[in-house]
Amino acid sequence: MRRATIYWAFVIVLLFSFPRKGASQSGQTHKLAPDVYWRAAEPDKRIIANAGWIVFRDYVLVIDANYPWGARAILDDIRATTNKPIKYVFDTHYHGDHAHGNGVFVDAGATILCSADCLAESWRKNPAAWKRSAIDPDYKDQKLEHPQIGFPDKLVFDDGTHRVELIKVGPGHTMGDAVAWLPKERILFTGDLCVNQRPGNNVADVDADPENWVRALDKLATFEPAQVIPGHGAIGGKPALAGQRAYLAAMIAGVRAGIARGETADQLANSLDLTAYGTWGADKSRNAPSIRAVYAKLKK
Ligand SMILES: [Zn+2]
Repeated sequence: MRRATIYWAFVIVLLFSFPRKGASQSGQTHKLAPDVYWRAAEPDKRIIANAGWIVFRDYVLVIDANYPWGARAILDDIRATTNKPIKYVFDTHYHGDHAHGNGVFVDAGATILCSADCLAESWRKNPAAWKRSAIDPDYKDQKLEHPQIGFPDKLVFDDGTHRVELIKVGPGHTMGDAVAWLPKERILFTGDLCVNQRPGNNVADVDADPENWVRALDKLATFEPAQVIPGHGAIGGKPALAGQRAYLAAMIAGVRAGIARGETADQLANSLDLTAYGTWGADKSRNAPSIRAVYAKLKK
């Protein structure tokens, strides 16, 4: 009797000490479909961008490397879903909140990839961005890792069960923006081409192209995604793409009209009201820098 109790206690301890499929270390991980996960941002831990991963037959493909501390949290959560090697990490774009954790994944054995334009951008802009960020003590012992594989327009992963298409649609938010599209599950990871939170979006990257960004969102809508995982904010569907598009298009139209009236960037930053554009335009003070950035681009 006693022996049986000890035996069952041992079995129970054993069961709970192994990683369980679908379980999450942090509670931030959600299963979208078999072998497809997204991990929600944790702004209170300064993990501000969303991430995802797909478990292929032989390896894991991660979408967005996050900051170094975010990368470590993502790694822990991946390990709660699979023990397969993390072979590839796809950066949707070069910005630090999506790519400065590359080194953590390289140390874990992964190769980083992104669009060829993103790769070029990383070499051109990330050394300075990294230097600015590295005053943060949480960058201690980290080093900048650029992507090592750059694809021109499209890169396809397909093991017969899962298919992921990495598609370059930028310039938009940056020069080299690319998305991850899962045609079988109709799941789209957009990076920052779509965000779904206050405050709108950052249009201020020197290589951002707001007009092409709108065209990129139109293209993504034709995919008819069932689930959209934005770079930041809550998971959505086609309405998230439409909301982002409406906000950007209204900003461009408003700035264009202001330029035609001879207004300055400061005047427009004050007068152009985008607060009707839902979550994207709700914060007037955050719209101002984007309006100024669009002004500078359209005035050229
Ligand atoms: Zn971002």
